[in-house]
Amino acid sequence: MGVTSKIRRFLLQRSVRKSRIPLTLWHSTTAQMPMMQRYANQEKMHLRLLAGHILAQKNIVPVNGFYLCDAMRVTIATQAAILVFRLEHPEQSDSLRWLRNWRQIVVYPTAFHNGRQTTFNIKGVMESWGGFESGETHYQGGIIINWQDDQPHPLRQHANQVLMHEMAHKLDMLDGDTNGHPPLHSNMNQQVWFDVFSEAFEQLNTQLEHGIKTTINPYAATNPAEFFAVTTEYFFEAPRVLQRAFPAVYQQLSLFYRQDFL
Ligand SMILES: [Zn+2]
Repeated sequence: MGVTSKIRRFLLQRSVRKSRIPLTLWHSTTAQMPMMQRYANQEKMHLRLLAGHILAQKNIVPVNGFYLCDAMRVTIATQAAILVFRLEHPEQSDSLRWLRNWRQIVVYPTAFHNGRQTTFNIKGVMESWGGFESGETHYQGGIIINWQDDQPHPLRQHANQVLMHEMAHKLDMLDGDTNGHPPLHSNMNQQVWFDVFSEAFEQLNTQLEHGIKTTINPYAATNPAEFFAVTTEYFFEAPRVLQRAFPAVYQQLSLFYRQDFL
């Protein structure tokens, strides 16, 4: 290890020590999170630091009489940290550039009613839907999730990562539109992203129209924004399933999140 690397490592260890997540709490909490097992020790130090910044800068608010213990808060912050692990610089505590457009995560104990009524227009097309939701994101405002769906669970073929889903919507919104197109990095190609996602979205919709059982959650066929959010869940929880179903989508998400699990 060169002198520069040693200094960097020393500085990183020092800032990790100062981070808000005590080591025993960090170890006991992340040991329950299968997604954490992919990362090497140095990467885990970065994630701990990033999760500490997220805890310091975002409000995690339980509602409906729910109580969040420290381990639950650390779990939520760590899930957020995993999503933006390669987007944010863990040693720059005040940046969190990719998470700049929201401040609050509201946590319900279980799925919650969205408070709306289901209405149809004169042509019979649904205008608004009322019912129980796993999570929700507003353009202006925070993220809403429920703990029952968000708590750590074994990685499943049928991905279910409600916080990552809602955060993907927030990343998508960073360029002003909620259209499944987040701001891309300079080494990525806008047209390729558009072509790859449009084609996969069409393919999924065609499968549904023909009554074919889809490999990924059919909710992704709702619109391009949901397609991006749902495929983000698969990217982190069931990368092989996504790679099998839509390899080019996996590749684009790998470029976007700057992570590769295969
Ligand atoms: Zn969604």
